[in-house]
Amino acid sequence: AKNGGRDSFQFFTPEMNTKAHERFAMQDAIRKGIARSEFYLDYQPQVDLRSGRIFAVEALVRWRHPVLGVLSPAQFISLAEETGLIVPLGDWVLNEACRQNKAWQDAGLAHLSVSVNVSARQFQEKDWPGRVIRALEENGLEAEYLELELTESLLMRNVDQAIATMKELQVLGVHFAIDDFGTGYSSLSALKSLPVSRLKIDQSFVRNLAHDEDDRSIISAVISLGQRLNMLVIAEGVETEDQLAFLRANGCDEAQGYHFSRPIEPKAMADLLKLR
Ligand code: C2E
Ligand code: CA
Ligand code: CA
Ligand code: CA
Repeated sequence: AKNGGRDSFQFFTPEMNTKAHERFAMQDAIRKGIARSEFYLDYQPQVDLRSGRIFAVEALVRWRHPVLGVLSPAQFISLAEETGLIVPLGDWVLNEACRQNKAWQDAGLAHLSVSVNVSARQFQEKDWPGRVIRALEENGLEAEYLELELTESLLMRNVDQAIATMKELQVLGVHFAIDDFGTGYSSLSALKSLPVSRLKIDQSFVRNLAHDEDDRSIISAVISLGQRLNMLVIAEGVETEDQLAFLRANGCDEAQGYHFSRPIEPKAMADLLKLR
């Protein structure tokens, strides 16, 4: 502590130093992990509730850390976002998801859409549409087989800017979904003007729907909203037959969750697709 003040002294507790050090080490490890191909993607099916078909898969990133083992996104995505490392990591995810989807198509499997999660930091990059177009071109994937998942808070921060960016990709055939819908603060008038194909009902509403009437009301309201706005509605985190029955009865279009499959590695996904 420079001037020995009480506050500055407290800032430099050993615990704080360790945390800062750990953060820095983690940051460095993410950077190296990208270079060393330690990240990989699992895929979770998205199911059409009318036909029962898998029409899409969501790509979910994992990190095979050399010492800590497999880490889930909750353990590294926010640090990657804070440090800007989500930009190179996100580029890798986008590229890998396009490559894998094209490989499944080339292997003769039914053509699916792949959904990729996009952080605000990535979306705000100046040449974001260009990065997406490059990933599609370099992997020979047609734009219609890519969907980008954006959150409400990202979209509502600067709606006009978001619309402009999305339209550059939408004209090529790329689709957009609003992730974790219902947990943010969407302006309904803004929602109307966004080029979005799909609303993803957040899993927090699905989780307790058997016991919580408010959650059931929210879900059926979101489904009606989607229908009015000409958007498809997908429920995430569907784990039970009862949850599925409620969603079906309320006209939900699509679902995703452990009831159908956990996120699985590409080989297992190919087997699942062949089985269907
Ligand atoms: P998300 O986009 O909302 O993804 C859904 C999360 O719910 C995934 O967790 C998935 O494994 C989990 N899940 C799926 N079905 C069920 C279910 O039936 N029950 C329960 N309890 N959970 C279910 P995961 O893979 O740990 O990812 C967590 C979050 O990390 C994602 O939430 C997303 O926000 C973020 N994330 C994952 N991959 C990426 C990525 O490539 N880029 C970015 N920017 N964020 C990512
Ligand atoms: Ca998502
Ligand atoms: Ca979600
Ligand atoms: Ca989420």
